[in-house]
Amino acid sequence: MDLYHIKRKGNKEVLKRNESRGVEYLTFPSLEKTGIVSHLFSTRIGGASEGIYASMNLSYARGDRKEAVDENFRRIAEIMGREIQDFVLSDQTHTANVRKVTEEDRGKGIVYQKDYCDVDGLITNERHIVLATFYADCVPLFLVDKKHRAIGLSHSGWKGTAGRMGEHTLLAMREAYGTNPEDVEIGIGPSICKDCYEVGEDVAEAFAAGFPDKVRKDILFAKGGGKYHLDLWKANEYIFHMAGVPKEQISVTDICTCCNPNYLFSHRASQGKRGNLGAFLCLI
Ligand SMILES: [Zn+2]
Repeated sequence: MDLYHIKRKGNKEVLKRNESRGVEYLTFPSLEKTGIVSHLFSTRIGGASEGIYASMNLSYARGDRKEAVDENFRRIAEIMGREIQDFVLSDQTHTANVRKVTEEDRGKGIVYQKDYCDVDGLITNERHIVLATFYADCVPLFLVDKKHRAIGLSHSGWKGTAGRMGEHTLLAMREAYGTNPEDVEIGIGPSICKDCYEVGEDVAEAFAAGFPDKVRKDILFAKGGGKYHLDLWKANEYIFHMAGVPKEQISVTDICTCCNPNYLFSHRASQGKRGNLGAFLCLI
């Protein structure tokens, strides 16, 4: 377990490390405590891929061998106690689009072709369907509505965060399942920290436009020379809190992808030569 030393932000261990047959993965104790879901965020450890994809790459679209990625998904499915036929994959293009997933979608994106595109968020209230989204620095958002037994899983990079993906996911769940924000437990997952995330004027401006002044100073930090540091963790926390989720129900990652490039895939740290991590969420 301790072969891979990881760097954490802060002194509170928000994410728990787990290991099963050599596969290491991360979970939120706060989501486990709901008792109605299984979930995980993958690491690079314990997969069948090699080279820049080593070893737990969960993307079919980045040039890795299909057999290796198939095997990686099988290993994740085994940990979740499901089959790969139970998975439903996103089609991420940095939108704020959310798709309601039902029994009919089972296996789409992995066993069957997707019949949808531009889907960065998935929601369902059906049991034993594994929602799956993919990462290498962008922010995974896990949502669990304990009262209505419904879940959401969304991809939120800077564009998604500026477009308030978290709020869109909550609204989609409200419309589909009657979800109230005060019943939702949130996990903001492993992604790039503000110290690693430097952006230029264009991103800073486009991003800041969506937030009030008093919040802007907590999420965007001028560094001089037209450079800024952007805090996607804080921004997503703010979005959920403003949408009505109590602060104590929002768990924010203490692990940065870019600070731990041998343990997690980071687009920035690898300059794009990398595989994908996966976030997985399933009603049990
Ligand atoms: Zn970092």
